[in-house]
Amino acid sequence: AMYVAKTQSLGVFVYTCAVDGHSPQRLALFGDLRRALDLGELELHYQPQISTATGALVGVEALVRWQHPARGLVFPDEFIPMAEHTGVIGPLTRYVLGAALAQARRWLDARQALLVSVNLSARNLLDESLPGQVADLLAVHGVPAELLQLEVTESAIMIEPARAQRVLTALAGLGVRLSIDDFGAGYTSLSQLKTLPVSELKIDRSFVLTMATSPSDALIVRSIVDLGHNLGLSIVAEGVETAAALATLTGFGCDTAQGYLLSRPVPAGAFDLWRAERQLLPTQASPASARSR
Ligand code: C2E
Ligand code: MG
Ligand code: MG
Ligand code: MG
Repeated sequence: AMYVAKTQSLGVFVYTCAVDGHSPQRLALFGDLRRALDLGELELHYQPQISTATGALVGVEALVRWQHPARGLVFPDEFIPMAEHTGVIGPLTRYVLGAALAQARRWLDARQALLVSVNLSARNLLDESLPGQVADLLAVHGVPAELLQLEVTESAIMIEPARAQRVLTALAGLGVRLSIDDFGAGYTSLSQLKTLPVSELKIDRSFVLTMATSPSDALIVRSIVDLGHNLGLSIVAEGVETAAALATLTGFGCDTAQGYLLSRPVPAGAFDLWRAERQLLPTQASPASARSR
């Protein structure tokens, strides 16, 4: 039997295996992850983000998956914490950035340019070589920096705020956009937020999912929209699963929506089909039609 104590210390997950509790399955997965990178078993799925005002597609979030030969599709919550703990996260993030930028280039070539968002881990923000790596990857793939957005969480920034600030400032200096992911779930101070070179807040999906049944969560969502706008930031809501949620967010003035209502994260080919079908529709799923339902 497996015993894994998971303690969250400043946002970094630390795994401690009990003396008698080696988990062969988990240890095997550790080793596999390094190989998975070399074997190309990691792939990206893409989830669209649309403008609440116009229904227009404004970007995609790239989300990593592991096509494991024995276990099938493994989701990031199962291996990103391990990748952080074992140090594989550096190479993993470079791989994801490369794959996302290669796809961004394909969309550019097809005259379908799209803003692509990539998630960074806490460890990545402590790596002062990251901005240089990102600059190299942008050059290699020939993608303008403005088409790349990096998502970072509040807790990742707070591990070592001064260093994170340096890394983020260097990334912003490249022209890359920055978004605070899972906003509201962490604890960024407002004075800190004001000094970060970010252009977007992404409201944590826990608030968005419960908005309809929890007036206090609806109030939080609305307050984040107002706070962000007052700071000159654009606001995205993740976890938009219903037309009612989309209508509420539109009413709050939230700029962008992402969630199962629009599409689940899917491989690039399926995303292109989704996009093509949507472009053929005479009237797109617009906030107005969502509201009248
Ligand atoms: P995240 O960045 O907050 O990503 C959003 C998560 O919400 C994704 O889970 C997505 O599939 C899910 N989601 C999207 N729409 C809905 C919805 O309407 N309802 C619900 N219930 N969920 C929705 P996923 O893909 O399993 O990713 C989980 C987390 O793993 C991400 O959270 C992110 O923190 C991390 N992650 C994903 N890809 C990467 C990556 O390439 N690198 C790093 N470092 N972390 C990644
Ligand atoms: Mg994200
Ligand atoms: Mg999120
Ligand atoms: Mg998250």
